[in-house]
Amino acid sequence: MATLVSPEIRQASAVTSDKSSSATAQVVAAAGDALLPVYRRAPFEIVRGAGVELFDADGRAYLDFTSGIAVNALGYGDPGLTAALHAAADGLIHVSNLFRTAPGEELAARLVELSFADSVFFCNSGAEANEGAFKVARRWGRARGGTAKHGIVALRGAFHGRLSATLAATDRPQYRLPFRPLAGGISIHERDITELSAVLDAETTAAVILEPVQGEGGVRVLDAGFLHELRALTRERDILLIYDEIQCGLGRTGTVFAYEHSGVEPDILTLAKPLAGGLPMGAILMTAEAASTMQPGDHGSTFGGGPFVASVANHVVGRLSDPSLLAHVTREGEWLGEQLMGMAERTGKLRAVRGLGFIWGVDVHEKAGNVVGRARDAGLLLVSAGDYTVRLLPPLVATRAELARGLELLEAALA
Ligand SMILES: *Cc1c(COP(=O)(O)O)cnc(C)c1O
Repeated sequence: MATLVSPEIRQASAVTSDKSSSATAQVVAAAGDALLPVYRRAPFEIVRGAGVELFDADGRAYLDFTSGIAVNALGYGDPGLTAALHAAADGLIHVSNLFRTAPGEELAARLVELSFADSVFFCNSGAEANEGAFKVARRWGRARGGTAKHGIVALRGAFHGRLSATLAATDRPQYRLPFRPLAGGISIHERDITELSAVLDAETTAAVILEPVQGEGGVRVLDAGFLHELRALTRERDILLIYDEIQCGLGRTGTVFAYEHSGVEPDILTLAKPLAGGLPMGAILMTAEAASTMQPGDHGSTFGGGPFVASVANHVVGRLSDPSLLAHVTREGEWLGEQLMGMAERTGKLRAVRGLGFIWGVDVHEKAGNVVGRARDAGLLLVSAGDYTVRLLPPLVATRAELARGLELLEAALA
């Protein structure tokens, strides 16, 4: 598709290059008409990336503080990732999960080594990982307490994906309501231990799912004390705890897993976004206890954990668990937070600053989309997290100078 469309766009851009840039934008929009219009796309075509920058078809550079929504942790054109992709392309691409292949086994062993988990299931996206986690929890719940023990509890502000069960666990009515009926037995409650204590029931609840750092819901770092209390409650009532670390996991907060900050371990944890360096991949990590009822035939995926994607993910996970990268994210993330707090005081234009590592959210006094739009015009790519929160997700390799440039552009866009 890209090869069919792009030459037309470039030709059209060349023809209109002496006219207004909005003429070019219209041509690009027209060329995208065959795509289902479910995204509000920026009106330019990205053709290239290098380091922490993206370039559009007119050669304009943009500092990318979205990282493909927390996917491109290593930035663009990383030589190690490129080499891993080439090496993987020389090997097997796919053989199906009917047969053993080494890269997926190695990747699972690596993730087990790095985490609380004993076993891993691979799939192709974040929503798929969470849906699989719900299946694991429900299979376990049923074995443990009978058919009634299938309830899944999610939290206010949660985002867990766009499929039928994950959407039911996502706290955005406008995403959810047009698609009812969604998967049943899933409810959303306040991030409050008293309310959860009234809701979590040993007989009917299989699992609680939460993001240790909520992403789409406005970048909220869940309180360590709350997580400790919730862990105690779920243990007491024989309920599994699922962490969705699809956005906040794999180095983004300065530790391999975000749960390391509180030290409160889950029974199941899901990964996706940065896992395979931009190739689609998800993973469900679980304890032996959580996995104990899953049998051959209980779950599966045609593509999940194939040799090509798993080879690349082995490289990426190695890089994202490297202590020097994690130390960089911790140190520069602290600096980034201090700068944002300073900006809040100096300008009076940020109502709140939340985050850690390389995931930050700032609440603004106007629609976040306005700030995102002005930043983009000035050459900085940002993404919102709810109506009034602007989110910063720089590639984990961004240097202090690059972060400082982004902050300058952000401050100008607040004006
Ligand atoms: C992006 C995201 C998902 C969904 O991942 P997809 O790959 O888009 O299905 C789920 N949970 C969290 C926390 C996310 O950030």
